[in-house]
Amino acid sequence: MILLDGKKTSAELKVEITEAVKELKKQGKKTPHLAAILVGTDGASMTYVNAKVKACEMVGFNSTLIDLPEETSEEKLLQEIENLNTNNDIDGFIVQLPLPKHIDEQKVLMAVNPDKDVDGFHPTNVGRMTLDLPSFLPATPYGILELLERYKVETSGKQVVVIGRSHIVGRPMSILMSQKRPAGDATVTVAHSRTKNLKELTLQADIIVAALGIPEFLTGDMVKDGVTIIDVGITRIDDETKKAGYRLAGDVHFESVAPKSSFITPVPGGVGPMTIAMLMKNTLLACERKS
Ligand code: NAD
Repeated sequence: MILLDGKKTSAELKVEITEAVKELKKQGKKTPHLAAILVGTDGASMTYVNAKVKACEMVGFNSTLIDLPEETSEEKLLQEIENLNTNNDIDGFIVQLPLPKHIDEQKVLMAVNPDKDVDGFHPTNVGRMTLDLPSFLPATPYGILELLERYKVETSGKQVVVIGRSHIVGRPMSILMSQKRPAGDATVTVAHSRTKNLKELTLQADIIVAALGIPEFLTGDMVKDGVTIIDVGITRIDDETKKAGYRLAGDVHFESVAPKSSFITPVPGGVGPMTIAMLMKNTLLACERKS
């Protein structure tokens, strides 16, 4: 069993991005600048945004955090987005999800200039991705492709089961892995909450991407020997023995699945750090495309 080490791979990526930033500066070009909008005080969202800002500092980017109160109106948020759309120094920005219930998430994502949409959530980028045209790939699926590629996991002709059909993970993952591309060329099945014969499907799979958000859902009896496992799930579980008061659980029951796997991502330290590294990569790309 080989651990797909997202912590190590993302550190390597960050070194590569740092080098690219140094090169841009040497050529007298601008420093990449990522902005993040956070609305409210959701604990997990604050942790993610802070990690993104810290990652920007590590690779030599400029970063701006726009921290808005929970009661911010949709109109005010749209105004902030327009300011970022028209600010020439900002290469890319993200609006941290989920948003408070009184704000229409779709309307907000549609307002982001696709050229600065480094999360890859705007319909223009989703459409371009689907047609295999240059676009910003959503960071989590992009990070998974990168891990599979760097660890030379064979995907061509393999049976892949993606569990989950969300717009940010499951759906794009299934599209990307079915395309003619590195870490692609696979035969992909998308399973979701209405899927009836999931275990039959997972038992056939060479690669399983678990992105459903139910802790330790995928167990050893559901997978075949030699399977590759990508565990996207991150759920906080109350744990008084931990300093933070919680522990992070993936969607895979690691103890029973790992012994049957050829490759497996741990949680934490698998897909999570890759997601942040790919956001940095997209921001670098946005900056380079402008110059
Ligand atoms: P979501 O919560 O939007 O959707 C869950 C999906 O799982 C749905 O499509 C649903 O149909 C499917 N599902 C639910 N129950 C199921 C069942 N019993 N069998 C089969 N399918 C079922 O999903 P999301 O936003 O993609 O998040 C999934 C998990 O991934 C969450 O734990 C989230 O925190 C985590 N996540 C991690 C990262 C990362 O960087 N590591 C990024 C995004 C999301």
